[in-house]
Amino acid sequence: MPLFRIPVFLFLLFSFLTARAQTLHYTITRDFSDDGKKSLLDVTVKFYPKAEDTTWFELPTQMNWSEDLVRCFRNFRVEGKGGRYTRHPRYRHIVGVISQSAEPLTLRYEVWPNFKGEAVTLQNSSSPILQKDYLHIHGRCLFLTPLHYEINDFYDVSIDWLNLPKRWTIQTSYNSGQYHQSFRAYSLDWRNSLCVAGDFRIYKGEVLGKPVYFAIRGKWVFDDQTLFDVILKTIETQRLLWNDTDIPYYSVTMIPFVRPEKPTPGIWTGDYLGLGKYNSFAVYATDGCLLDNLIYLFNHEMMHDWIGLKINPGDYDSEAAPRWFAEGFTEYLALRNCWKAGFFDREDFFKRLNKENFEEHYTNRMSEISAHDAEQCFYYDQECEHVPYRRGFILAFYFDCAIRKNSNNEYDLHDFMLNLLEYYQNSDRSVDETFDFFTETLGEFLGEDPTPFLNTHAIEGKRIPPEKFVLPDYLQMTVSTKGVPQFSIKAGADEADFLK
Ligand SMILES: [Zn+2]
Repeated sequence: MPLFRIPVFLFLLFSFLTARAQTLHYTITRDFSDDGKKSLLDVTVKFYPKAEDTTWFELPTQMNWSEDLVRCFRNFRVEGKGGRYTRHPRYRHIVGVISQSAEPLTLRYEVWPNFKGEAVTLQNSSSPILQKDYLHIHGRCLFLTPLHYEINDFYDVSIDWLNLPKRWTIQTSYNSGQYHQSFRAYSLDWRNSLCVAGDFRIYKGEVLGKPVYFAIRGKWVFDDQTLFDVILKTIETQRLLWNDTDIPYYSVTMIPFVRPEKPTPGIWTGDYLGLGKYNSFAVYATDGCLLDNLIYLFNHEMMHDWIGLKINPGDYDSEAAPRWFAEGFTEYLALRNCWKAGFFDREDFFKRLNKENFEEHYTNRMSEISAHDAEQCFYYDQECEHVPYRRGFILAFYFDCAIRKNSNNEYDLHDFMLNLLEYYQNSDRSVDETFDFFTETLGEFLGEDPTPFLNTHAIEGKRIPPEKFVLPDYLQMTVSTKGVPQFSIKAGADEADFLK
């Protein structure tokens, strides 16, 4: 080895050991009056400002279906010498702190709910929920961070919760049962979190030696333990699927929600909603939801730990508009996982594949809109919202079959996904920005370049004609009178071949 390499290695080691981190300290104090007039969290964040300049903070405007979140933030003040609060001259969602030096300052603000009443619906599900018996708040609606703190850097964060009622329990994406959290995290992903406290019932379990916590409130027709067993089994099978078992902590939360009394026409109003978050996922469900649908939801949301978080799809508005990948591949692999884990059998699997995906997609008036157009109507039209899920599911199934056929059953979609995981995890890369890597790797498994196919069927959005499907020997296809391809395992073939 040439001598000049040694200082490079030493330098890398040195910079790892001494990695600088952005520090942030939060206190969160509940302020609640029983007459309902006061229902807020008083938040302080201690940070290092830009010297002799303005430090800007961006407030969230919309999260998922919840809009107008700027209204949740009130009463900004600055504590500390030489600091002064200011509003942005043009943007309502940006606030600033003017300072004379780089000495740490504290920004204080209040977080209020932006809806009246206690009913949690799809529309207010991501807004701060601050009620008499509990609170449920997304990290982005709670933790403001200075814009000059680099996004791709280490963060040393500490959080203290104050003034919560004694009988309450607490669980966050960072730990369970504790009023103090402190951790080091890379990038701002730590803010994509969820914090709950109140009359939650908390269960602790273990998966492959790592703790998993489940916080649930409300009354259900299932036992808490039935749901928790499903959660533990799902986590175990998925971590083994991805060869990714070293996950130190995981939180699952579940609260009741209701269908809105006056639903906005065209907007989806289902019986359940799940949101994959940092080290955690959040579930909302009505008391009429079915256990099978919850099981599929758990499998879908947890699959996002990999497809979505570790494999970052990137910007949904970009050219690849990768929501078809993020949601559709997740749907397909989650359904396979439900079968593998024993929650569903072969019949359940093919029913969901044939009816809920192929039939719905091939007979839907919107199924051929482009990926880009599907993004524009995603939050505003229920039919449109389904498109990337079903389209991506069908693409995932198509590639799974084609890879199996091309490799004589040596490889399948799962092997391609492991390649993606290796390339994207612990990096700043995203699928949309490195789409060439995605297509080249997929091409190696398929034995041909999939770019034209993806352009036509993923991005332009044309349905895949039945004759294009390439099947492994143990699967067969029929085509319905409406032209919908339908799949099953050949008589006499072993379903274990397809399940592996
Ligand atoms: Zn999803």
